[in-house]
This record gives sequence, structure tokens and C-alpha cells, in this order.
Amino acid sequence: MDDMTQKKKLIAGNWKMNGSLQANAALLQALRDGLGEAACTVAVAVPAPYLAQVQGLVAGSAVALAAQDVSQHESGAFTGEVSAAMLRDFGTRYVLVGHSERRQYHGETDAVVAAKAQRALAAGITPIVCVGETLAEREAGQTEAVVKRQLAAVVQANGQCVSEIVVAYEPVWAIGTGRTATPEQAQQVHAVLRAQLAAATARADRVPLLYGGSMNAANAAQLLAQPDIDGGLVGGASLKAADFLQIIAAAHAIQAQAATELGAEKA
Ligand code: PEP
Repeated sequence: MDDMTQKKKLIAGNWKMNGSLQANAALLQALRDGLGEAACTVAVAVPAPYLAQVQGLVAGSAVALAAQDVSQHESGAFTGEVSAAMLRDFGTRYVLVGHSERRQYHGETDAVVAAKAQRALAAGITPIVCVGETLAEREAGQTEAVVKRQLAAVVQANGQCVSEIVVAYEPVWAIGTGRTATPEQAQQVHAVLRAQLAAATARADRVPLLYGGSMNAANAAQLLAQPDIDGGLVGGASLKAADFLQIIAAAHAIQAQAATELGAEKA
């Protein structure tokens, strides 16, 4: 960052449609026990029915509460939907919007995703806007065009407020497949997203850009060491405390090293 300050890495777990009262309690206890003085920010995106439970389980810890989706509507006759105000009632700090599983299985368009980001921001919740190309799109050389189109919708709807979002680059072909983008592939797309944000806001540097897609204990350090990768959105590996803690430890180590280098530069 050019202002000589350091941005904290963000490691967010996406539990997807997994968990139970008992399993959540055990997972959060193990996370709390293992976290120690993590220098990075940690969040867990939990299924909506567990928001109240997990709000209690993370209270007083370094773990922030996140939701997996939010309605594009404020309130009213939208059966089954959960509003941003409801999420806020449970102390939700982040919400995923436009996860590829929502785009793919629930037909969420770029416009809907942009509206959801807007609702979250209006409620004081940070949207984690997910973008990413399918394998067919990558093979057709459309990666940049796809992620830029997806992000452009959010930029257009949110103007200067776009500096308050988090963006997660999640290549669809890497999600839940065990196939990860190489650090170079991920960095290349992150640089494109950073440049797009820089054209929209003077504060693009403060927008955390996460990588997601089969991130695990073995590949996290290399991905997180890339200059424009500010953290990870972690699905499968976030359900196992030991694996998630190892990813957090990798972020912590990179962050600590960057702090040392920054200190040396300032001295
Ligand atoms: C996700 O669900 O956002 C994700 C990245 O999943 P996984 O880590 O399992 O690929």
C-alpha cells in the first residue's frame, strides 16, 4: 500500500449448507482455542438459522459473524428471504453476495447482486462480493471480461461506497473441486480487479481482495503472498478447525513479515 499503512488480511470461512447446533459449537470452540493472537481478521459465514447461535459463540472473540446471502429487498412479501436489517439484528458484520452457487442455482444476475450489495451497505454490513468465471469462460479467454462485468454492476450501483466492500475472486472451476488457481493466475485477475476499483474510487487500496476456490492449508501461503491477494474465502477447509487454523496461521505469518518489512522501511 502506498500510504505506508498495512491492511489486515481477511480469512472468511463459508460453511455453505453445513452445520448443526452441536457441530457449530464444537467448531467455534476449537477455533477460539486455536486462534491466539491472530493478526488477521477472521470471519465465518453461517447458514441463516444459526446466526443467533453463532453470534453467541463468537462473542468476545476475534471471529466476526458473516451471513451467506441477503435479500435485495428491504422488507415485505418476500417469503423465505432474509433482510439486511435482520442480519444486522444478529450482529452480522459481513455478508456474501453473488456467490457462484447463488448465481448458478438461483439465477442471480449482476443487477440482483449489485442490489444486494447496496442493501448490505445501507444496513452497515460489509458485502463480500463474489465474482468469477466458469471453466468454459476461462477457456474462451473471457476471464477478465466476465469478472469486470460482474464488478462493474456493483460499482455502478454503489458509486463511492464501493470502497467499503470486499471482493472475492472465486473461479467457478476451482470451487469445491480441489482444483486451485495458481498464485500467478489469481494475482493476474486480482490486479485487474484492483485497477477497475482504482478507476472507480481513490480508496481502491483499502478494498480487500480475497481469493476463493479450494484454498487449503497446503496452498494458502503461496496464494496469500501475492501482492493483490488480501485474504481468502474458504469453503470446505473452513469446516475443519485444524485446516482453517492453518490457513489463518499462514495469513498471520505473511502479515507479520509485512509488518516487519514496513517497520524497516520506516526506520
Ligand atoms: C466457497 O464456497 O466460496 C469456496 C471457495 O469453496 P471451496 O473452498 O470449498 O472451494
